[in-house]
Amino acid sequence: MTIYNFSAGPAVLPKAVLETAQSEMLDYKSSGMSVMELSHRSSLFEEIIQTAENLLRELMAIPDNYKVLFLQGGASLQFTMVPLNLAQGKKALYVNTGSWSKKAISAAKALDNVEVEVIASSEDKNFTYIPEIPKTIDQNAAYVHITTNNTIEGTAFEKIPSFGKVPVVADMSSNILANDYKVEDFGLIYAGAQKNIGPAGLTVVIVREDLLNKKAIFAPMLDYALQAKNNSLYNTPPTYGIYIAKLVFEWVKAQGGVAGITAEDRKKAQLLYDAIENSHLFKSPVEKKSRSITNIPFITGDEDLDKAFNQAALAQGFENLKGHRSVGGMRASLYNAFPIEGVEALIAFMEKFEKENGG
Ligand code: PLP
Repeated sequence: MTIYNFSAGPAVLPKAVLETAQSEMLDYKSSGMSVMELSHRSSLFEEIIQTAENLLRELMAIPDNYKVLFLQGGASLQFTMVPLNLAQGKKALYVNTGSWSKKAISAAKALDNVEVEVIASSEDKNFTYIPEIPKTIDQNAAYVHITTNNTIEGTAFEKIPSFGKVPVVADMSSNILANDYKVEDFGLIYAGAQKNIGPAGLTVVIVREDLLNKKAIFAPMLDYALQAKNNSLYNTPPTYGIYIAKLVFEWVKAQGGVAGITAEDRKKAQLLYDAIENSHLFKSPVEKKSRSITNIPFITGDEDLDKAFNQAALAQGFENLKGHRSVGGMRASLYNAFPIEGVEALIAFMEKFEKENGG
Protein backbone atom coordinates (compact mmCIF):
# COMPACT_ATOMS: atom_id res chain seq x y z
CA MET A 1 0.00 0.00 0.00
CA THR A 2 1.30 3.45 -0.87
CA ILE A 3 1.51 5.70 2.17
CA TYR A 4 0.78 9.40 1.74
CA ASN A 5 1.79 11.47 4.74
CA PHE A 6 -0.39 14.56 5.18
CA SER A 7 1.22 15.49 8.49
CA ALA A 8 1.35 19.16 9.49
CA GLY A 9 4.84 18.57 10.84
CA PRO A 10 7.19 16.85 11.19
CA ALA A 11 6.26 16.31 7.59
CA VAL A 12 7.13 14.44 4.44
CA LEU A 13 10.64 15.00 3.05
CA PRO A 14 11.71 14.55 -0.58
CA LYS A 15 12.46 10.90 -1.25
CA ALA A 16 15.63 11.86 -3.12
CA VAL A 17 16.90 13.64 0.00
CA LEU A 18 16.29 10.61 2.21
CA GLU A 19 18.00 8.36 -0.32
CA THR A 20 21.08 10.59 -0.45
CA ALA A 21 21.16 10.73 3.35
CA GLN A 22 20.92 6.96 3.45
CA SER A 23 23.71 6.48 0.95
CA GLU A 24 25.96 8.84 2.92
CA MET A 25 24.85 7.69 6.35
CA LEU A 26 27.82 5.48 7.26
CA ASP A 27 30.60 7.13 5.32
CA TYR A 28 30.31 10.80 4.48
CA LYS A 29 32.52 11.76 1.54
CA SER A 30 35.00 8.93 2.26
CA SER A 31 35.69 10.32 5.72
CA GLY A 32 34.89 6.96 7.31
CA MET A 33 32.44 8.85 9.53
CA SER A 34 28.76 9.65 9.52
CA VAL A 35 27.73 13.32 9.38
CA MET A 36 26.37 12.73 12.89
CA GLU A 37 29.88 11.87 14.02
CA LEU A 38 31.65 14.88 12.52
CA SER A 39 32.98 17.63 14.75
CA HIS A 40 31.06 20.83 14.19
CA ARG A 41 34.45 22.54 13.91
CA SER A 42 35.69 20.18 11.17
CA SER A 43 36.25 21.40 7.63
CA LEU A 44 33.71 18.83 6.36
CA PHE A 45 30.98 20.26 8.58
CA GLU A 46 32.00 23.85 7.90
CA GLU A 47 31.44 23.13 4.24
CA ILE A 48 27.99 21.69 5.00
CA ILE A 49 26.78 24.68 7.02
CA GLN A 50 28.28 27.20 4.60
CA THR A 51 26.72 25.46 1.60
CA ALA A 52 23.36 25.32 3.40
CA GLU A 53 23.54 29.05 4.08
CA ASN A 54 24.64 29.90 0.53
CA LEU A 55 21.84 27.82 -0.97
CA LEU A 56 19.20 29.39 1.26
CA ARG A 57 20.53 32.84 0.36
CA GLU A 58 20.26 31.96 -3.32
CA LEU A 59 16.80 30.35 -3.08
CA MET A 60 15.25 33.21 -1.11
CA ALA A 61 17.40 35.97 -2.66
CA ILE A 62 18.48 37.02 0.83
CA PRO A 63 20.24 40.41 0.66
CA ASP A 64 23.77 40.74 2.07
CA ASN A 65 22.63 42.87 4.98
CA TYR A 66 20.73 39.93 6.48
CA LYS A 67 22.25 37.23 8.70
CA VAL A 68 21.17 33.60 8.39
CA LEU A 69 21.20 31.69 11.69
CA PHE A 70 20.78 27.97 12.31
CA LEU A 71 19.45 27.67 15.85
CA GLN A 72 17.58 25.27 18.12
CA GLY A 73 14.50 25.48 20.31
CA GLY A 74 11.90 25.38 17.55
CA ALA A 75 9.77 28.26 16.35
CA SER A 76 8.38 28.40 19.88
CA LEU A 77 11.66 29.68 21.31
CA GLN A 78 11.54 32.46 18.73
CA PHE A 79 8.27 33.58 20.32
CA THR A 80 10.48 34.67 23.24
CA MET A 81 13.74 35.48 21.46
CA VAL A 82 12.10 37.99 19.13
CA PRO A 83 10.72 40.33 21.82
CA LEU A 84 13.72 39.73 24.07
CA ASN A 85 16.15 40.89 21.39
CA LEU A 86 14.09 43.47 19.53
CA ALA A 87 11.58 45.03 21.88
CA GLN A 88 13.01 45.50 25.38
CA GLY A 89 11.57 48.73 26.76
CA LYS A 90 9.51 49.14 23.58
CA LYS A 91 6.16 48.35 22.09
CA ALA A 92 5.63 45.28 19.88
CA LEU A 93 2.64 44.90 17.57
CA TYR A 94 0.99 41.57 16.77
CA VAL A 95 -1.54 40.34 14.23
CA ASN A 96 -3.52 37.50 15.80
CA THR A 97 -4.40 34.96 13.13
CA GLY A 98 -4.49 31.69 15.03
CA SER A 99 -3.18 29.35 17.68
CA TRP A 100 0.48 29.98 16.87
CA SER A 101 0.05 33.76 16.80
CA LYS A 102 -1.64 33.52 20.19
CA LYS A 103 1.31 31.63 21.60
CA ALA A 104 3.71 34.24 20.18
CA ILE A 105 1.59 36.98 21.80
CA SER A 106 1.56 35.24 25.20
CA ALA A 107 5.33 34.74 25.11
CA ALA A 108 5.88 38.45 24.42
CA LYS A 109 3.39 39.45 27.12
CA ALA A 110 5.29 37.33 29.61
CA LEU A 111 8.28 39.70 29.34
CA ASP A 112 8.11 42.49 31.92
CA ASN A 113 9.43 45.32 29.84
CA VAL A 114 7.75 44.70 26.50
CA GLU A 115 4.45 46.40 25.71
CA VAL A 116 2.27 44.26 23.46
CA GLU A 117 -0.51 45.57 21.25
CA VAL A 118 -2.66 43.32 19.09
CA ILE A 119 -3.50 45.48 16.07
CA ALA A 120 -5.75 43.03 14.22
CA SER A 121 -7.34 39.68 14.95
CA SER A 122 -9.59 37.11 13.32
CA GLU A 123 -10.44 35.37 16.57
CA ASP A 124 -14.08 36.58 16.30
CA LYS A 125 -14.65 34.01 13.54
CA ASN A 126 -12.47 31.20 14.82
CA PHE A 127 -9.49 32.42 12.74
CA THR A 128 -11.14 31.47 9.46
CA TYR A 129 -9.89 34.59 7.66
CA ILE A 130 -6.94 36.99 7.48
CA PRO A 131 -7.96 40.30 9.07
CA GLU A 132 -7.55 43.75 7.53
CA ILE A 133 -4.63 45.74 8.92
CA PRO A 134 -5.61 49.18 10.31
CA LYS A 135 -4.45 52.10 8.15
CA THR A 136 -2.60 53.72 11.01
CA ILE A 137 -0.36 51.78 13.34
CA ASP A 138 2.25 53.03 15.81
CA GLN A 139 5.24 53.80 13.60
CA ASN A 140 7.55 53.81 16.63
CA ALA A 141 6.87 50.17 17.46
CA ALA A 142 9.87 47.82 17.51
CA TYR A 143 8.19 45.45 15.07
CA VAL A 144 4.92 43.98 13.90
CA HIS A 145 4.64 40.20 14.13
CA ILE A 146 2.64 38.12 11.65
CA THR A 147 2.24 34.39 11.05
CA THR A 148 2.47 34.11 7.27
CA ASN A 149 0.76 30.72 7.17
CA ASN A 150 -1.55 29.48 9.87
CA THR A 151 -0.85 25.78 9.97
CA ILE A 152 -3.80 24.81 12.13
CA GLU A 153 -6.52 27.06 10.69
CA GLY A 154 -5.44 26.89 7.03
CA THR A 155 -5.17 30.61 6.27
CA ALA A 156 -2.24 32.53 4.81
CA PHE A 157 -1.05 36.01 3.87
CA GLU A 158 -0.82 35.72 0.10
CA LYS A 159 0.84 39.16 0.06
CA ILE A 160 2.52 40.96 2.93
CA PRO A 161 0.49 44.04 3.92
CA SER A 162 2.19 47.39 4.28
CA PHE A 163 3.10 48.38 7.81
CA GLY A 164 4.94 51.59 6.94
CA LYS A 165 8.41 51.73 8.42
CA VAL A 166 7.75 49.22 11.22
CA PRO A 167 9.90 46.12 10.62
CA VAL A 168 7.86 42.99 9.92
CA VAL A 169 8.74 39.88 11.90
CA ALA A 170 7.31 36.72 10.38
CA ASP A 171 6.74 33.25 11.72
CA MET A 172 7.16 31.50 8.37
CA SER A 173 7.37 27.99 9.83
CA SER A 174 4.79 26.43 7.56
CA ASN A 175 5.32 28.26 4.26
CA ILE A 176 8.98 29.16 4.06
CA LEU A 177 10.23 28.30 0.54
CA ALA A 178 6.61 27.99 -0.57
CA ASN A 179 5.77 31.58 -1.49
CA ASP A 180 7.65 34.24 -3.43
CA TYR A 181 7.77 36.67 -0.50
CA LYS A 182 10.60 39.21 -0.72
CA VAL A 183 13.01 38.96 2.18
CA GLU A 184 13.55 42.74 2.09
CA ASP A 185 9.89 43.18 3.10
CA PHE A 186 10.79 41.66 6.48
CA GLY A 187 13.03 42.63 9.36
CA LEU A 188 13.20 39.08 10.65
CA ILE A 189 11.92 35.71 9.46
CA TYR A 190 11.95 32.53 11.50
CA ALA A 191 10.87 28.98 10.79
CA GLY A 192 10.98 25.66 12.55
CA ALA A 193 12.53 23.25 10.04
CA GLN A 194 10.16 20.34 10.36
CA LYS A 195 7.83 21.23 7.48
CA ASN A 196 9.61 22.56 4.40
CA ILE A 197 13.25 22.41 5.48
CA GLY A 198 14.16 19.21 7.29
CA PRO A 199 14.08 17.47 10.64
CA ALA A 200 12.68 18.94 13.85
CA GLY A 201 15.39 20.39 16.06
CA LEU A 202 16.62 23.04 13.65
CA THR A 203 15.23 26.57 13.49
CA VAL A 204 16.19 28.99 10.73
CA VAL A 205 16.31 32.72 11.48
CA ILE A 206 16.94 35.40 8.86
CA VAL A 207 17.52 38.78 10.45
CA ARG A 208 18.39 42.23 9.13
CA GLU A 209 21.70 43.32 10.60
CA ASP A 210 20.49 46.67 11.92
CA LEU A 211 17.95 44.83 14.08
CA LEU A 212 20.57 42.78 15.89
CA ASN A 213 20.55 43.69 19.56
CA LYS A 214 23.26 46.16 20.55
CA LYS A 215 23.26 45.13 24.21
CA ALA A 216 24.06 41.56 25.24
CA ILE A 217 21.05 39.48 26.29
CA PHE A 218 21.31 37.92 29.76
CA ALA A 219 21.30 34.39 28.26
CA PRO A 220 23.96 33.98 25.56
CA MET A 221 22.05 31.24 23.72
CA LEU A 222 19.12 33.64 23.25
CA ASP A 223 21.27 36.44 21.87
CA TYR A 224 20.90 36.93 18.09
CA ALA A 225 23.97 39.17 17.89
CA LEU A 226 26.14 36.61 19.64
CA GLN A 227 24.82 33.77 17.48
CA ALA A 228 25.45 35.85 14.37
CA LYS A 229 28.98 36.77 15.48
CA ASN A 230 29.72 33.06 15.91
CA ASN A 231 28.13 32.02 12.60
CA SER A 232 25.67 29.78 14.48
CA LEU A 233 28.59 27.90 16.04
CA TYR A 234 28.52 29.47 19.51
CA ASN A 235 27.76 25.97 20.79
CA THR A 236 27.21 22.64 19.03
CA PRO A 237 24.50 23.29 16.44
CA PRO A 238 22.02 20.60 15.28
CA THR A 239 24.56 19.27 12.79
CA TYR A 240 22.54 16.48 11.22
CA GLY A 241 19.51 18.72 10.81
CA ILE A 242 21.65 21.30 9.05
CA TYR A 243 23.02 18.59 6.75
CA ILE A 244 19.49 17.46 5.80
CA ALA A 245 18.49 21.11 5.30
CA LYS A 246 21.39 21.46 2.86
CA LEU A 247 20.12 18.43 0.92
CA VAL A 248 16.59 19.85 0.90
CA PHE A 249 17.85 23.21 -0.38
CA GLU A 250 19.69 21.39 -3.18
CA TRP A 251 16.46 19.57 -3.99
CA VAL A 252 14.44 22.81 -4.03
CA LYS A 253 17.00 24.31 -6.40
CA ALA A 254 16.70 21.29 -8.69
CA GLN A 255 12.88 21.78 -8.76
CA GLY A 256 13.35 25.23 -10.28
CA GLY A 257 13.86 27.04 -6.99
CA VAL A 258 11.05 28.68 -5.05
CA ALA A 259 9.28 29.67 -8.30
CA GLY A 260 9.23 26.07 -9.52
CA ILE A 261 8.14 24.74 -6.16
CA THR A 262 5.35 27.27 -5.65
CA ALA A 263 3.93 26.63 -9.12
CA GLU A 264 3.64 22.96 -8.20
CA ASP A 265 2.27 23.81 -4.72
CA ARG A 266 -0.44 25.96 -6.30
CA LYS A 267 -1.38 23.17 -8.67
CA LYS A 268 -1.71 20.69 -5.79
CA ALA A 269 -3.80 23.08 -3.69
CA GLN A 270 -6.04 24.03 -6.62
CA LEU A 271 -6.85 20.38 -7.29
CA LEU A 272 -7.95 19.84 -3.72
CA TYR A 273 -9.86 23.13 -3.38
CA ASP A 274 -11.68 22.41 -6.66
CA ALA A 275 -12.63 18.96 -5.39
CA ILE A 276 -13.94 20.48 -2.15
CA GLU A 277 -15.90 23.16 -4.06
CA ASN A 278 -17.43 20.53 -6.35
CA SER A 279 -18.39 18.26 -3.49
CA HIS A 280 -21.81 18.16 -1.82
CA LEU A 281 -20.31 16.51 1.25
CA PHE A 282 -17.05 18.29 2.01
CA LYS A 283 -16.58 21.99 2.62
CA SER A 284 -13.80 24.35 3.53
CA PRO A 285 -14.26 26.26 6.79
CA VAL A 286 -11.96 29.02 5.52
CA GLU A 287 -12.95 32.26 3.74
CA LYS A 288 -12.00 31.95 0.07
CA LYS A 289 -9.55 34.82 -0.23
CA SER A 290 -7.63 33.82 2.92
CA ARG A 291 -7.01 30.19 2.01
CA SER A 292 -3.60 28.62 2.49
CA ILE A 293 -2.10 26.57 -0.30
CA THR A 294 -0.15 24.59 2.28
CA ASN A 295 -2.55 23.43 4.99
CA ILE A 296 -6.05 22.70 3.76
CA PRO A 297 -8.71 21.88 6.36
CA PHE A 298 -12.05 20.44 5.25
CA ILE A 299 -15.12 19.19 7.07
CA THR A 300 -18.41 17.44 6.40
CA GLY A 301 -20.21 19.36 9.14
CA ASP A 302 -21.01 16.07 10.89
CA GLU A 303 -18.45 14.95 13.47
CA ASP A 304 -19.38 11.26 13.18
CA LEU A 305 -18.98 11.36 9.42
CA ASP A 306 -15.62 13.13 9.78
CA LYS A 307 -14.53 10.38 12.12
CA ALA A 308 -15.68 7.68 9.71
CA PHE A 309 -13.83 9.40 6.88
CA ASN A 310 -10.64 9.67 8.89
CA GLN A 311 -10.77 6.02 9.87
CA ALA A 312 -11.44 4.84 6.32
CA ALA A 313 -8.72 7.15 4.95
CA LEU A 314 -6.17 5.83 7.41
CA ALA A 315 -6.96 2.27 6.40
CA GLN A 316 -6.13 3.26 2.80
CA GLY A 317 -2.70 4.69 3.68
CA PHE A 318 -3.66 8.37 4.01
CA GLU A 319 -1.69 9.19 7.15
CA ASN A 320 -2.20 12.16 9.48
CA LEU A 321 -5.29 13.57 7.78
CA LYS A 322 -7.17 14.13 11.01
CA GLY A 323 -7.71 17.85 11.62
CA HIS A 324 -6.13 19.62 14.56
CA ARG A 325 -8.13 19.04 17.74
CA SER A 326 -9.08 22.75 17.88
CA VAL A 327 -10.65 22.70 14.38
CA GLY A 328 -11.77 19.08 13.94
CA GLY A 329 -12.58 17.45 10.61
CA MET A 330 -9.69 16.83 8.26
CA ARG A 331 -6.57 18.72 7.25
CA ALA A 332 -4.35 17.96 4.28
CA SER A 333 -0.89 19.48 4.65
CA LEU A 334 0.63 19.75 1.19
CA TYR A 335 4.19 20.82 1.90
CA ASN A 336 6.78 21.18 -0.85
CA ALA A 337 7.80 17.52 -0.79
CA PHE A 338 4.23 16.20 -0.87
CA PRO A 339 3.65 14.50 -4.24
CA ILE A 340 0.79 15.56 -6.52
CA GLU A 341 -0.15 11.87 -6.93
CA GLY A 342 -1.06 11.89 -3.23
CA VAL A 343 -3.52 14.75 -3.82
CA GLU A 344 -5.05 12.93 -6.76
CA ALA A 345 -5.37 9.74 -4.73
CA LEU A 346 -7.01 11.64 -1.87
CA ILE A 347 -9.52 13.28 -4.23
CA ALA A 348 -10.44 9.91 -5.75
CA PHE A 349 -10.93 8.56 -2.23
CA MET A 350 -13.08 11.55 -1.21
CA GLU A 351 -15.29 11.04 -4.27
CA LYS A 352 -15.72 7.37 -3.48
CA PHE A 353 -16.53 8.13 0.15
CA GLU A 354 -19.05 10.76 -0.91
CA LYS A 355 -20.85 8.31 -3.22
CA GLU A 356 -20.96 5.67 -0.50
CA ASN A 357 -22.34 8.17 1.95
CA GLY A 358 -25.26 9.51 0.02
CA GLY A 359 -23.50 12.21 -2.01
N1 PLP B 1 4.54 28.41 14.26
C1 PLP B 1 3.87 27.75 13.32
C2 PLP B 1 3.22 28.52 12.21
C3 PLP B 1 3.77 26.37 13.36
O1 PLP B 1 3.10 25.71 12.41
C4 PLP B 1 4.38 25.67 14.41
C5 PLP B 1 4.24 24.22 14.44
O2 PLP B 1 4.82 23.34 14.45
C6 PLP B 1 5.08 26.40 15.39
C7 PLP B 1 5.13 27.76 15.27
C8 PLP B 1 5.76 25.73 16.54
O3 PLP B 1 6.95 25.21 16.11
P1 PLP B 1 7.93 24.40 17.04
O4 PLP B 1 7.24 23.13 17.38
O5 PLP B 1 9.14 24.23 16.17
O6 PLP B 1 8.21 25.21 18.25
